Amino acid sequence: VKNVVIGQCKLCLAENGRLLESHLLAAGFYRRILSTQSNPHPLLISAKGMRSSSDQVRDNVLCEDCERLFAKNGEDYALRVAADRRSFKLLDELTRCGLTRGKLEDSRWSEIRSSPKVKRDHLAYFALSVFWRAAIHRWPDPEDSTRTIKIELGQTNTESLRLFLLGEAALPPTANLTFYVLTDRLSQATIYLPGRTSKVGFRWGYGFVACGFMFNLFLGKSVDPTASRVCLIHSPERFIWIRGGEQKTLEAVGHISRQRAAKSFPR
Ligand SMILES: [Zn+2]
Repeated sequence: VKNVVIGQCKLCLAENGRLLESHLLAAGFYRRILSTQSNPHPLLISAKGMRSSSDQVRDNVLCEDCERLFAKNGEDYALRVAADRRSFKLLDELTRCGLTRGKLEDSRWSEIRSSPKVKRDHLAYFALSVFWRAAIHRWPDPEDSTRTIKIELGQTNTESLRLFLLGEAALPPTANLTFYVLTDRLSQATIYLPGRTSKVGFRWGYGFVACGFMFNLFLGKSVDPTASRVCLIHSPERFIWIRGGEQKTLEAVGHISRQRAAKSFPR
C-alpha cells in the first residue's frame, strides 16, 4: 500500500491510525465510465465548467477498518448497480419491477413494495458517506492546486452523519435524502462532486451526481413533512425517483455548479 499517513481517522476517531488514501468519490465510479474509444474520460462538471477528466479527488482521511465499512455498507453495491458505458443495472431492475407513473409529465417512481430487492439501505448509506466525506475534510482539487473541495453541513449535522455511518444512531428526522435514477446517456456518463444546491428558509440542500445516480440531501433544524414524504430513508414507500432528459439534468447540475463556484474555498 502506498501513500500511508499516520494520524487520526475522521470516522472512528482512533488516534495514530494508518490512514489510507481515501477518495471523495470511489475510484470505481470514474473507472465505470472510462472508455478506450472516442471518449476516454468521464464528463466532470465542476466550478470550472464541463470537461472530460479522470482526475480523482483523494487524500489520507480514513483508516483501513473505516474504508472497509464504507465499502461493505454501501459503496460495493452502489458501484455494482451504477451505470457504465454499456448498461445500468439499477435502472434495468427498477424498470423490470414496473414503475409507477404520476400525473405530472415525466414523473415516475418505484416503491419498496414493488422493488424489494433493491438495497435501499446500501444506496442511502453510500450517498450519506459521500456527503459526510465532503464535509469533514478540505479535499485538494486536482484541477486547481489553489483550491479545495468542501461543503459546510454544520457541526451538529456532520456529527449526526458520523454516528449514523458508524451504526451508532439513526438518521435524524430533520435530514432527508432524495434519490433520482437518471435515464439519459449523458447523465450516466457524468460525475458532479458534492455541492450546495439550495437554501430555502432554514433548510439547506446539497447534491451530487455519479454514473446515473443523483442524490440530494436536505438539512434543517425542524422536520419538513414535504421532504420527508419523498425521502429515500424516511418515507414509508422508500421512494426512488426515475427521471430522464438531458436538459433537465444539465439544468439541475448547472445550478449545483454555480453554487459550488460561489462556495469554492481558497486553500
Ligand atoms: Zn477509522
